[in-house]
Amino acid sequence: MSFKADVITLFPELFPGPLGASVIGRGLEQNLWSLNTTHLRHFASGKHKNVDDTPSGGGPGMVLRADVLAKAIDAVSPANDPRPRLLMSPRGQPFTQKMARDLSKGPGALIVCGRFEGVDQRIIEARNLMEISIGDYVLAGGEVAAMTLLESVVRLIPGILGDEKSRDEESFENDLLEYPQYTRPADFEGRSVPPVLTSGDHGKIKKWRQEQSESLTRSRRPDLWTK
Ligand code: SAH
Repeated sequence: MSFKADVITLFPELFPGPLGASVIGRGLEQNLWSLNTTHLRHFASGKHKNVDDTPSGGGPGMVLRADVLAKAIDAVSPANDPRPRLLMSPRGQPFTQKMARDLSKGPGALIVCGRFEGVDQRIIEARNLMEISIGDYVLAGGEVAAMTLLESVVRLIPGILGDEKSRDEESFENDLLEYPQYTRPADFEGRSVPPVLTSGDHGKIKKWRQEQSESLTRSRRPDLWTK
């Protein structure tokens, strides 16, 4: 059974977008994962097909209605759905490589994309939505956040990347940033590739890369280093 992503959004036309390109898109074509978008508007009721309404208590903007969201969620994710239900939200748990790895081993995810001022709090509780943030900044909607999450998850699914080993040495694996990479030409505008990398001594190369990873992490990301 492959990874099944369901996305509830007011802008289904944004998908697959970048998820249709390169290795992620090829994986989609090869059914290594699947993507189904659901238009929230189709679940609106009443004459005006409203999906949102003014905030209780007043204030600017609009809030997505819990009843409309519930109908959309229930249509794609029955009560016994084993997949986690995620809500993209700047108030959520910060998304990490570890979460990407865990999700990539699971059956998939249902992802709700917020818009406007966000969603009615009651849907989060009633449908057990896990709020996930992709960073400490505010987007206009959850769609780009959902794509970010899915792109990082899907590339970890076996068969998506050509060389599975390349994943294990990447930034954030082992809480370290990746060492600097080089390729041809040997001389670029007077800058040469560090000689150790062309020495053929694999022990030395490994040690150099480890040292580079450690010093980069220490100087750029003391928060990771202390972990
Ligand atoms: N008023 C809200 C922000 C709403 S932004 C607040 O202050 O918290 C509109 C929608 O964009 C959100 O519902 C969410 O789905 C999405 N979004 C914005 N920033 C995000 C982030 N950093 N991570 C994940 N989703 C985000």
